[in-house]
Amino acid sequence: MSKGRVFIISGPSGSGKDTLLKILFERYPNMKFSISSTTRPMREGEVEGEKYNFISKESFLSMLANDELLEHNEFVGNFYGTPKKPVMDAVSSGEDIIIEVDVNGAAQIREKMPEVISIFIMPPSLEVLKARLSKRGTETKALVEKRLCAALDEIRRAEEYNYIIVNDALDEAIEDITTVINSEKFRLDRQQYLINQILDKA
Ligand code: 5GP
Repeated sequence: MSKGRVFIISGPSGSGKDTLLKILFERYPNMKFSISSTTRPMREGEVEGEKYNFISKESFLSMLANDELLEHNEFVGNFYGTPKKPVMDAVSSGEDIIIEVDVNGAAQIREKMPEVISIFIMPPSLEVLKARLSKRGTETKALVEKRLCAALDEIRRAEEYNYIIVNDALDEAIEDITTVINSEKFRLDRQQYLINQILDKA
């Protein structure tokens, strides 16, 4: 059995990443999603255990101390981390998994798992990014400003990724990300056995 593939998806708040991911999971019902642990307060409409496990700072620090996190980061005053076990379980049982992390988390995962496929979701322009951030309406102006600064810092590091998908028209972005996920199956390192299959019998 071949190992599961690990996709990292990053993109600043306002890149439209959440909507993209939601549609992606409808298309790939067998794709696993890595549920992050965070100390950030739950926003309206969020559900415990769907995208995040909302935990206390103490619990987060104890996961960290017990080496239960594949990566972690502090973002705008809160901790976020990827629990290690679900990712390792998916890989060893041949299931594909998507990990949504910020650029720092992505860099930590790449160090430990160089084979990961990383995709950066880019907003189409600065204007659109600003508009999307202020439209959210669940956060104060100061927090929106902080998120904008963080977004620009993330975009500066987009060149660390294997793929960049511009999320302007949602349908097109979905097609583009689907193309990446599908074509990754055909990489030489996952298909090497096909060459041997024929040559061994020749
Ligand atoms: P938000 O608070 O808007 O849900 O997420 C803020 C940032 O944290 C986003 O850039 C998101 O990708 C990132 N993030 C979400 N989960 C994780 C995680 O497990 N680890 C890291 N490093 N970043 C995360």
